[in-house]
Amino acid sequence: MALLAIMGRPNVGKSTLFNRITKSRKAMVDDSPGVTRDRNYADAEHDGVKFSVVDTGGFSKNDPDAFVDLIHFQVNQAIEEADAIAMVFDGKDGPSPFDRDLLSVLRPIDKPIFYLVNKIDSADLEYLMADFAELGVGELHPVSGEHGYGIPTFLDMIVKVL
Ligand code: GDP
Ligand code: MG
Repeated sequence: MALLAIMGRPNVGKSTLFNRITKSRKAMVDDSPGVTRDRNYADAEHDGVKFSVVDTGGFSKNDPDAFVDLIHFQVNQAIEEADAIAMVFDGKDGPSPFDRDLLSVLRPIDKPIFYLVNKIDSADLEYLMADFAELGVGELHPVSGEHGYGIPTFLDMIVKVL
């Protein structure tokens, strides 16, 4: 089965998105970054297409080198096993240097990458997307893992490439 990897810095809402897409409560969601310590896999289905999803965490709060580890872990994993990648940004937080770090390691990867601005809970928050244009990644998609906004549109795109 094709695999979608959800990537992004801590606290952008990866686990919430994972749970929404896989309709599970498997991934732990927490207000403090880094609560997902292990990789979580679950199956999903959209429009008759079945696929697997991995919530890339592998980040320990107490590890001073955690972010470097996180990048290596997620990117290596994505390169090796994912068929498509969802790179998630935090719409409420705006772009951060961590996002740029992750983007720079994603650049050489020759797989479909979808750029999601999460925490766009409704249409009236779409103005928050404008801040992310400076990242220069091309098309950005508004989503809300918590409320479901933009998720059907995203899933339509995903199942086309998987
Ligand atoms: P992760 O570290 O990337 O896995 O992020 P989590 O899924 O654990 O979420 C981190 C925080 O962001 C939690 O407090 C969530 O409730 C919050 N959050 C996640 N998705 C959304 C969303 O779509 N909208 C809003 N407003 N908050 C969200
Ligand atoms: Mg998480």
